[in-house]
Amino acid sequence: MSSPNISRKRRAAVIGAGPVGCLAALMLAKRGWEVSLYEGRSALDPRSSLFKSTAKQRSINLAISHRGIAAMHAIDGSMAQRFMQTAIPMKGRMIHHLDGKLYSQLYDRDGQCINSIDRALLNEHFVDQVSASENIRVFFRHKVQAVDFESKNITFENMNTSRNTTASFDFCVGADGSHSVVRRQLMRVVRMDYQQEYIKHEYIEFKMPASQDHEGHLNFALDPSHLHIWPRRSYMFIALPNQDHTFTCTLFAPSEELDRLNTQNIFLNWFKSNFPDALQAIGEKNLINDFTHNPRSPLICTKSNPYHYKDRAILLGDAAHSMVPFYGQGLNCGLEDVRILDVLLSQESVMSTVSERTVDREDERLMRALSRYSQERHKDLLAITELAMANYVEMRHLVTTPIYLARKALDNL
Ligand code: FAD
Repeated sequence: MSSPNISRKRRAAVIGAGPVGCLAALMLAKRGWEVSLYEGRSALDPRSSLFKSTAKQRSINLAISHRGIAAMHAIDGSMAQRFMQTAIPMKGRMIHHLDGKLYSQLYDRDGQCINSIDRALLNEHFVDQVSASENIRVFFRHKVQAVDFESKNITFENMNTSRNTTASFDFCVGADGSHSVVRRQLMRVVRMDYQQEYIKHEYIEFKMPASQDHEGHLNFALDPSHLHIWPRRSYMFIALPNQDHTFTCTLFAPSEELDRLNTQNIFLNWFKSNFPDALQAIGEKNLINDFTHNPRSPLICTKSNPYHYKDRAILLGDAAHSMVPFYGQGLNCGLEDVRILDVLLSQESVMSTVSERTVDREDERLMRALSRYSQERHKDLLAITELAMANYVEMRHLVTTPIYLARKALDNL
């Protein structure tokens, strides 16, 4: 018979090795939990070409702001610093008017920036970090099929063996993105309010190549210290700088508008009349190539509440809240979820080891932390999701209106 005082480490199962799942795994490992991180993709290793082609289906780069940096910093300061070495600071927006005039709008008069970061590189850093952690075991090609929250068991499709396998857990973190299986499983046991909306706009990505001077040196085609925006009322084009002197550009437009642009010529003429300076920097051939080969991707917004179940499960990141990308806060907010959870686990003194004697007390503490997370986080998540939607109107139109420009000029005095 085992002694009631023999302690064991508690086991956390984190589902999804995207940035939020990786940060959650690192946070729990740092707190002393024994973490298993399960990822469905065949080759998440970002150095592999497969991962790169998968990553292309989402944006190639991202804007990381203070919110995300602070979250990474709270879990591992040196990791955050290393990440930021690959980022390009953007101190403001550069508005491109139709007549070719440029107008710079600083984000902050004290110099705070947002940072353009390569999504594949960010994932690569995170995967390296979790792989190097002693308390984390990473299982690729493990796709979650079902979670039994009462018996605390997960069923996976193990793509290495083509068999279903199961694993048990004390605490399950669902960080498996917008179409989360963990969320769907939770909805069977939790009275969760859930809302999903595809907005009537889509996006297509384009690459703006580096320019070359007469000595063959590569240069940015546009000022790299800005996020460039071509606001055109119901649609817009944006560009974020990359380390290799290229820009990743995104066209956001109503689906109806994109439906009309159904031949290469129609699209080229439309683009020429709306974004002439962008066309010059991209080149007609590159533009058409990207238009032909890159997907038209949808934009989804999801809201859930609550995010947890008893003392045993929580949703973080896009699994809990997907927002439209116009505020550049989806990932930042997901990383912040991890920081907030970390704070609450500390405040409720949740321990990573239990014995027979302490297990009930620890379950109680974990339940209090998770329940406070749902209560305290929800209004902030709703607010940022709504701000993200509102910022689309600001980016594609309001930034060019006289009232906005006057207000911005006053702010910068
Ligand atoms: P994900 O990155 O989606 O990762 C989820 C992981 O779970 C994936 O690796 C997936 O393979 C895995 N998975 C899924 N299902 C299973 C399963 N059943 N079993 C096991 N594993 C599974 N955010 C910003 O902060 N700034 C920006 O500038 C920004 N720009 C964006 C631009 C665009 C065009 C888009 C679409 C989004 C943008 N976002 C931005 C939002 C950002 O991309 C997301 O918020 C972020 O990627 C969410 O991270 P995550 O780890 O929660 O989910």
